[in-house]
Amino acid sequence: MYDVIVVGARISGSATAMLLARAGYRVLLLDRAKFPGGKGAATNLVHPPGILRLKRWGLLDEVAATGCPPIHSYGLQSGPVQLMAKLPAVEGVAEAYSPERRKLDEILLEAAVKAGAELRERVALRELLTDAQGTVIGVRAETEDRTPVVEHARLVVGADGSNSTVARLVGAEKYDSHPVLNKSHWSYWADLPHDGKVRTYRHRHQHAFTWPTHDGLTIVGLALPVGDFKASADQERDATVISAFEEVDPEFAARLRETRRTDTWMTGAVPNFLRQCHGPGWALTGDAGYTRDPITAAGITDSLRGAELLVEAVAPALAGDRDLAPALADYARCRDALVSGHFQYTRDHATIADYNREELEFIRAMARSPHHGSGMVGMFATIVPPAEFYSPANIHALFDHIPPGSEPGWKIRMVRWLVRGAPRHLPPATRLADRLIAANLGSMGTFLLGSPVARAA
Ligand SMILES: Cc1cc2nc3c(=O)[nH]c(=O)nc-3n(C[C@H](O)[C@H](O)[C@H](O)COP(=O)(O)OP(=O)(O)OC[C@H]3O[C@@H](n4cnc5c(N)ncnc54)[C@H](O)[C@@H]3O)c2cc1C
Repeated sequence: MYDVIVVGARISGSATAMLLARAGYRVLLLDRAKFPGGKGAATNLVHPPGILRLKRWGLLDEVAATGCPPIHSYGLQSGPVQLMAKLPAVEGVAEAYSPERRKLDEILLEAAVKAGAELRERVALRELLTDAQGTVIGVRAETEDRTPVVEHARLVVGADGSNSTVARLVGAEKYDSHPVLNKSHWSYWADLPHDGKVRTYRHRHQHAFTWPTHDGLTIVGLALPVGDFKASADQERDATVISAFEEVDPEFAARLRETRRTDTWMTGAVPNFLRQCHGPGWALTGDAGYTRDPITAAGITDSLRGAELLVEAVAPALAGDRDLAPALADYARCRDALVSGHFQYTRDHATIADYNREELEFIRAMARSPHHGSGMVGMFATIVPPAEFYSPANIHALFDHIPPGSEPGWKIRMVRWLVRGAPRHLPPATRLADRLIAANLGSMGTFLLGSPVARAA
């Protein structure tokens, strides 16, 4: 009898098993794969909140030692408008890293095993065992040669990815579910200079991105709305990606032409959903409970935070200090509160809609204001909640960084009058200003207007 059986031994499963084993619980960690596994569908970026967890767990030095440089700044460019800002610190950590995915998986898995979790590879979950009340009490699994494995536990955790078997077996419902919004292709490039920056570009419904990763390599990729994406051979993709960079950063495109791609092109696309993440005797964590578009590169960070959240919630119940059911309900509430704002932001970003003139003016102002620039990239990096960034006070302060005169266009000038008060001593009309600003912010406008969605974040 185990305290917890964790199904899935990659980011979220290994982190969960490690934390539970370190807290002294008896943990079985099983995965149908054999490790070290493949490189997986990921562009590897881990934002500061994820790095903070790795540091807290004593694993950051090991991750950094795999040969991935720290990243201090993120940028966004659209046409002539360029924003590059330092990441805000979260509990003293203001760096991101993009470690080789296989190595990150290995470090977490080794930490779980070292902490005492029992690992069984090449074992696939087939059924869940339940008692007469329907509470999950264990698993029925199978080895590769079809040998049955039956084990019991007080809690079964599904950390088995977006197509979670645990979720299917318990009938966990999806909610806030949205289809695939874009598809991306990316690869690794050698001999590009490293300057510790994530660069993203939005132009003509294309989202190009690049950042330093492991072993002196650079990730280079392009995301396109689903309808614009065409499957193509590697050489053709080189041409598509380089010509997308040509339009937004000709200097970088020239460097791509002079240097070399070291891997094949990889393609990825995922739908967006939250899943009911607990029930009697079971819980879901990582992508099994929450899958989002990769455009904000937040899945690993969310998985590390989710593992911590789950273990903090269930540990007192496993210790006998409270019942498991309310502990799991707390976990679900905290998970939704933590992710729902960024989930909405990610979906908004994932449509790859071009910015209108007013949005570009706002981004230009953010580039002039270190506070707002850092807030904007902090929002991308899951540090600053969208409800905070798009609060009326923060957005009104942005008008201090829009120069007076006719340059910003009449709409922005009019809204500035409404925010600050017009000439001839007319008083400010901030509520009207907020409505006009929100109309230009797409779904992010709901945060400014303080809609129920915004408050839930
Ligand atoms: C194109 C793309 C790019 C991305 N880029 C980034 C990025 O730059 N940064 C970032 O943070 N995130 C990124 N992500 C998201 C990130 O990869 C995921 O959020 C993360 O892998 C989730 O980890 P997980 O441990 O929850 O699930 P997974 O990594 O999916 O692991 C699930 C594990 O469960 C096992 N399993 C499944 N079913 C069973 C079963 N029945 N029995 C036993 N074992 C089972 C699997 O073998 C697997 O090992 C990207 C995703 C995509 C698609």
